[in-house]
Amino acid sequence: MKSYFRPEIDAIAGYAPGEQPKMSNLIKLNTNENPYPPSPEVLKVLHNFDPARLRRYPDPTADGLRDIFAASVNMKRENVIIGNGSDDLLTMIFRAFTDKDRSVAVFEPTYSLYPVLAAMQGAEVTRIALDKENFSYPDNAVELAGDANLLIITRPNAPTGNCADKELVRNICRNFDGIVLIDEAYSDFAADNCSEFAAEFDNVLVMRTFSKGSSMAGLRLGYAFGNKILIDGLMKLKDSYNVDMLSQELAKANFLDVQYRAECTAKIIADREKLTGELQKLGFKVIPSQANFLFASPPDGDGAGAFAALREEAVIVRYFPGEITGKYLRITIGTPEENARLLEVLAKRY
Ligand SMILES: *Cc1c(COP(=O)(O)O)cnc(C)c1O
Repeated sequence: MKSYFRPEIDAIAGYAPGEQPKMSNLIKLNTNENPYPPSPEVLKVLHNFDPARLRRYPDPTADGLRDIFAASVNMKRENVIIGNGSDDLLTMIFRAFTDKDRSVAVFEPTYSLYPVLAAMQGAEVTRIALDKENFSYPDNAVELAGDANLLIITRPNAPTGNCADKELVRNICRNFDGIVLIDEAYSDFAADNCSEFAAEFDNVLVMRTFSKGSSMAGLRLGYAFGNKILIDGLMKLKDSYNVDMLSQELAKANFLDVQYRAECTAKIIADREKLTGELQKLGFKVIPSQANFLFASPPDGDGAGAFAALREEAVIVRYFPGEITGKYLRITIGTPEENARLLEVLAKRY
C-alpha cells in the first residue's frame, strides 16, 4: 500500500522506551524509577476520592499544581505549565520551537527521545559531543550550537549521570540566541539545580518530572517554568485537558510531603555512593553521578556482555549500543537488597 504518512514519520524508527518486562522475581534497574513508593498521603487521597467527580472535566490548566510548583521556585502561576509527564512538555516544546528551518542542539550522549521529536518536526539536530572519557562539557557549546533555535541541557545528564558546571550553564543561557531548555528530570538527586535561571533569563525553560525523584512514573506528571511569554505560547499548543483530575490531586499530595520525599532521596543518594565504591572495587569505571543511576563500564569494556550476564540472572539494566556508550551499563539505584543482588551477579563475572 502506498504510504499516507508524512515523510518525516515514515523516516523515523520511533522512540524505544526501556523495556517493562512481565517476568516475575525480576530486579528492574533499567528505567530509573524510584524504588520507594510515593508518600502515604497519596493513599489517603485515593481512599477519599469520590468517583462521581470523574463525570466532570479536570481543571484544564491545573492551577492548584501550578501554584505550589511556582511557590517552590519563587515564581508565579503564570510562569508554570503542567504536562502529562515531561515527555508531553517536550512534545509541546519541539512543536513550538523547531521545524525544518529551526534546528535543535543537544549534547551527545543524552536522552534519546530528543532526536525522535526533532525528526517528527523535520528539524535538524546538531550534536555537541561530550568528552569521550568523563563526559564533561565543552567550553564553546554556544559556538558549536550554531544557529539552532533550541538548545537542550539535561542536568544531571542521562545516561551519564554527571552535571554540566552551573557557571557554564549560566553562560550558555546568557549567550545563546535561542531557547535554552534545562531538563532537570534528575535534579532531586543533585547537589544543586538551575531553577533561578528561569527567572534570570527570558529565553530559559526549566523542566521537572514526577517520574524519578517523586516515585510517580505511572502517574505521568511533569512541569516546566520560565518567562510568562514562553509559558503563554506553550499553553496555546497544549492539549486542553492534558492532565487528568486524579493525577492532579495525587501529585499535589505527594509534592507537599516534602519530608517524606527528602528521606527517600537521601537513602538513594547514600546507596548511590555505596554502589559506586563497590563497583569500583570490582574494577568498573564509574562516572561520578548526581542522579539516581550510575553509568559504569566493566573492566573489559564489554557493556553488552555485562548486560546479557545480568539479564540471565533476571537483573535488568539499560544498555545503549554505540562506540562510546556501548562500553557502559546504565544502572538504576534500587533498594539495598536489589543493589546487593546486582553486585552478587557481577562479582561472579569480574
Ligand atoms: C525520564 C526522563 C524524562 C521523562 O520523564 P516523564 O515525566 O516520565 O515523561 C525526561 N527527560 C529525561 C532526561 C528523563 O530521563
